[in-house]
Amino acid sequence: MIATQSIATISSEPSVITPEEALAILEGKEPFLYVLKEASDQRFKYFGNKVRIHILDNIKNGYCPEDCGYCAQRKGGDSGIKEYSLKSEEEIWEDAKLAKASGAYRFCMVTSGRGPTDKAVDKLATTISRINSELGLKVCLSAGILDAKKARVLKDAGLDRYNHNLNTSESNYNEICSTHTFKDRLSTLEAASSAEIGLCSGLIVGMGEQNSDLVQVAFELKRLGVISIPVNFFIPIKGHAVALNTSLTPEYCIRVLSVFRLVNPDSEIRIGAGREGHLGSLQSMGLYVANSLFADGYLNVKGSEISQTMNLIRDCGMVPEFSEGIPQGWENYEKEFLYEEKNFPDLYKFKK
Ligand code: SF4
Repeated sequence: MIATQSIATISSEPSVITPEEALAILEGKEPFLYVLKEASDQRFKYFGNKVRIHILDNIKNGYCPEDCGYCAQRKGGDSGIKEYSLKSEEEIWEDAKLAKASGAYRFCMVTSGRGPTDKAVDKLATTISRINSELGLKVCLSAGILDAKKARVLKDAGLDRYNHNLNTSESNYNEICSTHTFKDRLSTLEAASSAEIGLCSGLIVGMGEQNSDLVQVAFELKRLGVISIPVNFFIPIKGHAVALNTSLTPEYCIRVLSVFRLVNPDSEIRIGAGREGHLGSLQSMGLYVANSLFADGYLNVKGSEISQTMNLIRDCGMVPEFSEGIPQGWENYEKEFLYEEKNFPDLYKFKK
């Protein structure tokens, strides 16, 4: 059996800003570099220069009866995505091995649907137990609404974290979904927390919310002690029922990340979906605030290649944190990118 590192399951450090200060940051009333410095100080205090890489495995896609307006898999979405039912244990096992080989810190299994059946929970528990014991890879599961009994089965199998995003504030929730409520989301998080599973819960920015909604979410996650917070930026694709808030800019996205860091200083803040398009050339600045990333794409859309993500980390003077620490050979990886012709053939072409 492979030993796993012990990690915190609950965020316990107090926020370093008030709701009023968070709002001022989002409204652009605080100088950008001042905000970045304050958030970065907290990031380095708790996580040093490490970056955790998460790889998503969409183990069941589509066939969903829910109508979350931000999701291409929603009922009636007609998005053209490839739908498939729950992958077999062997298929998930092979995906987990690939994720481990790619340097994942955590393997995130995601299923569509309102919530798992008892049978699905048993199957997931067997898979989680095997990934834990044979690969030593931390596992996060995102499988929808959960009750206390199911949470206990998953915990006993070794589940490290359960993901269930709040997505937006309670007051804005009716705008994005009608088939379940914000309170349903809270109940699932409370069930997972009662079973002593670490909570992963975040949001999607850019779905028509106000700055005050983002502040509410940041402090609600603090109240729940959420230890892992994916901050996603809405990617508008066919099948969605909500429209992109076009005022998202790279600078604003960094302010959002900073607010979540300053409210939840010791939580893992992840730049989630949309980092490539919304943060653009400020992606590297985002890493001075956030300490984790998704690599190799998102649920239904592609993101950067893993090698591009590694380059981003290297350019920031940071190191990836793999499931068993810093990878052997990282120094050699850096040397591969020396400024010489074999590494940058296009830059060595003479201008015409
Ligand atoms: S977010 Fe989950 S529950 Fe909502 S529509 Fe998508 S797959 Fe279904």
